Amino acid sequence: MKASKKKPKQVKEKKSAKKAEKLIDKKGVRLDGRKLDELRPVKMAVGVLPNANGSAYLEQGRNKILVGVFGPKEAHPRHIAQQDRAVIQCRYHMAPFSVDERKSPAPSRRDIELSKVIRQALEPAIFLEYYPKTAIQVYIEILQADGGTRCAGITTAALALADAGIPMRDLVVACAAGKADGKLLLDLMDTEDKVGDADVPVAFMPNLNAITLLQMDGSLTTDEFENAVSMAIDGCKQLYAIQKEALKSKYVTVEEAK
Ligand code: ADP
Repeated sequence: MKASKKKPKQVKEKKSAKKAEKLIDKKGVRLDGRKLDELRPVKMAVGVLPNANGSAYLEQGRNKILVGVFGPKEAHPRHIAQQDRAVIQCRYHMAPFSVDERKSPAPSRRDIELSKVIRQALEPAIFLEYYPKTAIQVYIEILQADGGTRCAGITTAALALADAGIPMRDLVVACAAGKADGKLLLDLMDTEDKVGDADVPVAFMPNLNAITLLQMDGSLTTDEFENAVSMAIDGCKQLYAIQKEALKSKYVTVEEAK
């Protein structure tokens, strides 16, 4: 009997600790001063690594992400090659200094999972059938992480693929929406992700109007889920405008110089 009395008390303490951290104030302003439907400040640049075939760098709030792309090139090991299309080899990697506690440089379970979901989010956009038997390698380095790195990794990787001159049906851009303090939010930072109730990352091809990644962590009602998805798609459209600018600022300048 004693043991069963203790348990509810522990649960209660945990809940009140969670409530103590208020993520949104009475005016609807978030911890970093953003409105509920506002993205973090974003910077993007392409062609930042001379040794890669294509590259891009992105800052989104405190996230800092660098992507290098190689290929299409001969696939190694050979048995991964496909007769009718290119394969994408994607590596998402968090640097040991990207989070507050040193992260092991070895790939974690999470790194491996995110490598796979990011690959699957990019594949529909690429004309893989143009390059049979080859591999396209995408290396995503998370230099600094503050929530939403899978989405920011996809947005950056799509830019690096475009910079490598790989033919694509559309760019891919990704953004998350979620819920905290009972409100729907756009582009969650780490604290909102951890303390909040739900996170819905969405990757999107803006011209084809097609979703290439949809995940949910936490719980939402059906209405909240639908609203979160459309909020994330709005975020994707804003990020897409910045992606286009980043590409133009490299390639239009090169064209003018010619
Ligand atoms: P995403 O970065 O796409 O939101 P997660 O929800 O798995 O992916 O992670 C949320 C955040 O948690 C990351 O962006 C990062 O800031 C933090 N995080 C992830 N792994 C670690 C780790 N090993 N140590 C500390 N923080 C981490």
